[in-house]
Amino acid sequence: MADGKIMMKTPIVEMYGDEMTRVIWKWIKEIIIVPYIDLKTEYYDLGLKNRDETGDRVTSEAAEATKRLGVAVKCATITPNSQRMTEYGLHEMWKSPNGTIRAILDGTVFRTPIIVRGIDPYVPTWKKPIPIARHAYGDIYKNTESIVPKGSRAELVITDPDGCEKRLPIHSFENSSGIVQGVHNTDKSISSFARSCFNYALEVGQPLWFAAKDTISKTYDHRFKDIFSEIYESEYKARFEEKGIEYFYTLIDDAVARVIRSEGGFIWALKNYDGDVMSDMLATAYGSLGLMTSVLVSPDGVYEYEAAHGTVTRHYYSYLKGEKESTNPIATIFAWTGALRKRGQLDGTDDLVRFASDLERASVMTMEEGVMDKNLSLLSKLENKKIVYSEEFLYEIRDRLDRIR
Ligand code: NAP
Ligand code: MG
Repeated sequence: MADGKIMMKTPIVEMYGDEMTRVIWKWIKEIIIVPYIDLKTEYYDLGLKNRDETGDRVTSEAAEATKRLGVAVKCATITPNSQRMTEYGLHEMWKSPNGTIRAILDGTVFRTPIIVRGIDPYVPTWKKPIPIARHAYGDIYKNTESIVPKGSRAELVITDPDGCEKRLPIHSFENSSGIVQGVHNTDKSISSFARSCFNYALEVGQPLWFAAKDTISKTYDHRFKDIFSEIYESEYKARFEEKGIEYFYTLIDDAVARVIRSEGGFIWALKNYDGDVMSDMLATAYGSLGLMTSVLVSPDGVYEYEAAHGTVTRHYYSYLKGEKESTNPIATIFAWTGALRKRGQLDGTDDLVRFASDLERASVMTMEEGVMDKNLSLLSKLENKKIVYSEEFLYEIRDRLDRIR
């Protein structure tokens, strides 16, 4: 402790972002982080203006720094589209920063809802969170597809390294025109995905479920199942048993039925498309985007934490007009606590780990005592609610943090 503040050994990477979340980011640091922690960060401004000025180099630099330091916290950022090109006078329509970072870290994103009494999931049996891991490479997201005229024949052609061709019939379109699609995935990407999932399950001490459709897709989906199973048996089984958690594979349709009947408390790993669909379903069923956290975990154990929501543009435009906005800071706070806890665990600084848990507890307590943003108040079953602006929300959390520390 210096001036009563918690000391950090190694810095974390801090990625600054855009719009309303950029505004809240500063308040979070000022009100509930810096008064308690002698904060050490390596700072990268991923705000769209600076990405444009650096030719987006800053994004790769931030990802490289994350590889080096092992832990990062990221503010939400704008992914430019044509409207943003005009709004910011951009030189180029830069790629999504999250996509760039994920490509460099080769990671998997885990999204987890924050459970708050009074904000009930739509599924009454769900008592614990269900973090979702979506494989973010390949399948229909990197497909080749075509319209096929009537009378055509479609084949799958694979040319091996020696130039030999293997031809597999897909369909003869004798009676009707139609459509075909070619998709792929790689053993390397599936293996990275599997390792990220197993590592994360060990890290949080929760069972891991993986689901695909190997009974129908006997080679493609079966490959996913086999790779998961081989890596589990050879690298993770002993550690899972030691932790008392299991790895469980089942068919995707069986998994859906089990998830709905479950009480939660396990990680659900899914192929790209299934993860796309199911993560939106789970986010909605748990209640609110403002309560969804997200962490990118690389197969070699690098962690990048962020809120699952975007930059909350609508709130930012009213903020610019001088109106006070009621944006929920909770998911962004949990991005900070996730990163600080991880840093504390890696460095063996127990104070930092304890602070992260205290701040999370104070945040949840604030909402359970009825203090919340406007959007959350519409979902809350509590009787006496107090709707607060973002800055007030943070002072309410600080009051409770001081009480429990
Ligand atoms: P968004 O920023 O998540 O906001 C969508 C709406 O959800 C908001 O207008 C607001 O509803 C509600 N909302 C989200 N977070 C909230 C919070 N913390 N507190 C209260 N309400 C919240 O999504 P978007 O409007 O589609 O995207 C805006 C920008 O964010 C885009 O430029 C996009 O590229 C970027 N984005 C970034 C990331 C990321 O960096 N990870 C992720 C997604 C989107 P009301 O307006 O009804 O109050
Ligand atoms: Mg989606």
